[in-house]
Amino acid sequence: MAKKTVRDVDVSGKRVLVRVDFNVPLDKEGHVTDDTRIKAALPTIKYLAGEKARVILMSHLGRPKGQVNESYRLDAVAARLEQLLGVPVRKADDCIGEQARQAVEQLGEGDVLLLENLRFHPGEEKNDADFARQLAALGDVLVNDAFGTAHRAHASNQGVAQLLPAVAGFLMEKEITMLSQVLGSPGRPFVAIMGGAKVSDKIGVIDNLLNKVDALLIGGGMANTFFKAGGLTIGKSLLEADKVELAGQLMKKAREKGVDLQLPVDVVVAPAASPDADARVVPVSAVPGDCMILDIGPETVQKFGNLLKDAVTVVWNGPLGVFEMEPFAKGTMGIARGLADSKAVTVIGGGDSAAAVEKAGVAGRITHISTGGGASLEFLEGKELPGVAALQDK
Ligand code: ADP
Ligand code: MG
Repeated sequence: MAKKTVRDVDVSGKRVLVRVDFNVPLDKEGHVTDDTRIKAALPTIKYLAGEKARVILMSHLGRPKGQVNESYRLDAVAARLEQLLGVPVRKADDCIGEQARQAVEQLGEGDVLLLENLRFHPGEEKNDADFARQLAALGDVLVNDAFGTAHRAHASNQGVAQLLPAVAGFLMEKEITMLSQVLGSPGRPFVAIMGGAKVSDKIGVIDNLLNKVDALLIGGGMANTFFKAGGLTIGKSLLEADKVELAGQLMKKAREKGVDLQLPVDVVVAPAASPDADARVVPVSAVPGDCMILDIGPETVQKFGNLLKDAVTVVWNGPLGVFEMEPFAKGTMGIARGLADSKAVTVIGGGDSAAAVEKAGVAGRITHISTGGGASLEFLEGKELPGVAALQDK
């Protein structure tokens, strides 16, 4: 990787500010209901503590909009982190100011402190220079391990990086390495699968991937707009009428680039997107006028699956159907299993796609599931992420 990591700086005895993504879901009582993101940061935290750094963690949680909001405090997160680490985790009730400064001063080598929610201050999201200065005053080095916010230039990942030597943590390193490997030097054939509700969310990704892949398989709600562009009738299906022309242009670009663009050949339809809907499989040429397309059909799963079998690199973003509802989950689950069975390097981006792979029970057999929803999409669009750009080059 071209960026420096925690291994490239001396952290022993230093005050190390670590931007982590502890934006975890909480239940009504304020307990952490999914600690995946906390677990994902453990390798970096353990390494730093083992190297005798004074570890100062900072994160955001939810959208408190620049004000203190009791339901977004990080105390429950600190408690769960303490359980997972097996060593005491201190907690400060602010992320800047006298309280934070004293908490940092009291840290011994190898101690771990979690600062309060960064977004209690408007300066975090505004990337305010003064707020960044106050954060930077607490540390000697910045380690960024929050890939999920790397597509935003905020004070904790960009402003502070202007003031302190900034390097990647292990999670950030893995994300950048995997995503740049598939985009930069993919083994071929390189196949991308795109789905999700709307083509408008993914135009940039499709456009960029068309420059790189050998085949592009399209499913999900976005396929409807491509069907329409190809002159098919799609009943009451979700359609972005103002994107039909664009879909046609993307199909043309695929032809020009020699990319094998594949659309579903059969689909699952129902009168409405409902969990107890009367769902049936029809060829794409025979979608009833009073029905919606809500999943890809079994023949398409097979066809896409065959292309996955021969692939050496696969990138997947976006569920192929409304997988949250049982009658429309088979397509997405089938493709998830196809990826798991494939010998290819498999990389998944997007929050719902990651959830779908978990639901299919095959997450352990995927090469890399990105922890950053929006950040992974911007990466796949070929954009430089500000949080990554701010890290020191090797
Ligand atoms: P990701 O978070 O992985 O980037 P998206 O947010 O783009 O994925 O898309 C996920 C959503 O797309 C899911 O909520 C799913 O129900 C919806 N979706 C998939 N296929 C269809 C379809 N045929 N019609 C309507 N919605 C769909
Ligand atoms: Mg999503």
